[in-house]
Amino acid sequence: MIIENQLSSKPYNSFSADVDLQTVITLNQKEELFLISDILKNDVKVIGGGSNILLTRDINETVLLIDTKGIEVIKESDAYVLVSIAAGEVWHDVVVWAVENNFGGIENLSLIPGKTGAAPIQNIGAYGVEIKDVLHSLKAFHKQEGVEYIFQNKECAFGYRDSHFKGQWKGQFIITEVVLKLTKEGHHKINSSYGAIQSVLERKAIDQPSIKDISDAVIEIRQSKLPDPKVIGNAGSFFKNPIIEKEQFEKILDQHPHMPSYPAGEKVKLAAGWLIDQCGWKGKRVGDTGTHKHQALVIVNHGNATGDDILSVSKQIQLDVKSKFDIDLQPEVNIW
Ligand code: FAD
Ligand code: NAP
Repeated sequence: MIIENQLSSKPYNSFSADVDLQTVITLNQKEELFLISDILKNDVKVIGGGSNILLTRDINETVLLIDTKGIEVIKESDAYVLVSIAAGEVWHDVVVWAVENNFGGIENLSLIPGKTGAAPIQNIGAYGVEIKDVLHSLKAFHKQEGVEYIFQNKECAFGYRDSHFKGQWKGQFIITEVVLKLTKEGHHKINSSYGAIQSVLERKAIDQPSIKDISDAVIEIRQSKLPDPKVIGNAGSFFKNPIIEKEQFEKILDQHPHMPSYPAGEKVKLAAGWLIDQCGWKGKRVGDTGTHKHQALVIVNHGNATGDDILSVSKQIQLDVKSKFDIDLQPEVNIW
């Protein structure tokens, strides 16, 4: 455990927003949580990789940086493995480990920034797979009670970019370990449903993709389309894709017959990036912020934008989408 004071937030958030962090505790072993249980009873902010937060103010609360390590197979059968992963493991390193071992289930989630402990918070998802599809259980330390709980998948109330950890349990727990149920090759069903993956597989003339083929395709697509936070600050999709009633969808479709849409149970999912693009925002720059040239859903920091600059652009985008489509975009990013 390392305790430091007065740090700049720049290295700790993928937007590269620069605010003061008054006190920062880096956690290397989860048992250290018991040593600081008194501090945790106060308001403590948890940061994993900082790739889903927008810092709009100096952080006077203690910041807990999660840096615990460990990936361990804890159970194995002919078809499955249960793998326990420490919260501080970088998520993509876990994907690489799974792909190298031919364990299927998270290859579509390749190259998502951040750490494993944050992955269940918003139920990370990409290319038709969400962590809830493979999450067996997790361990989480209750800040007020000072004890560690085990939650099974069903108890976490996973939804689209959502869970109890973002909802009714917000701020109460520190996720310490995640247990995934991964499938051995030969028993695993590949998901190549998204058009972008199919295009890559067709171009490479791959009929029966392996777990690695899917991971490679996702990495290629993401590297060609998404800004690397190390080069241009961003937190991925700033807003969630809106899921709307069929009635409202039909009304918008009358006006915009080429609007992309996807079934979402009884409702319809729209592509927030498309809506923002239609409002003229794709690649638009306002000072040092704006949206990415290849994906309007990604708000970027071209250099010295503050959290407030970014927030202000996000609000303008919300107003424009509301005025053109009568849709309220909800931020996916956690705004502090
Ligand atoms: P942080 O930003 O550090 O934290 C996010 C939230 O979780 C905060 O509220 C924080 O307090 C809380 N938190 C973090 N760790 C813990 C913990 N151990 N216990 C309790 N609370 C915790 N997301 C997707 O779902 N799909 C994508 O395809 C995707 N693509 C992205 C692409 C780019 C280029 C970027 C920059 C982001 C993308 N994201 C995507 C968003 C982001 O990567 C994920 O939300 C990721 O899980 C965040 O992890 P993190 O460790 O960086 O979380
Ligand atoms: P895209 O391919 O341009 O598609 C736009 C949106 O349409 C996506 O967000 C996706 O919704 C939806 N979509 C596309 N094909 C679909 C299908 N076959 N079935 C259902 N929905 C479909 O999207 P993109 O921006 O390049 O992102 C590709 C994937 O990576 C998406 O899954 C996206 O969620 C994920 N991603 C997430 C973030 C983040 O920060 N959250 C950042 C970058 C990429 P879904 O988002 O519901 O999948």
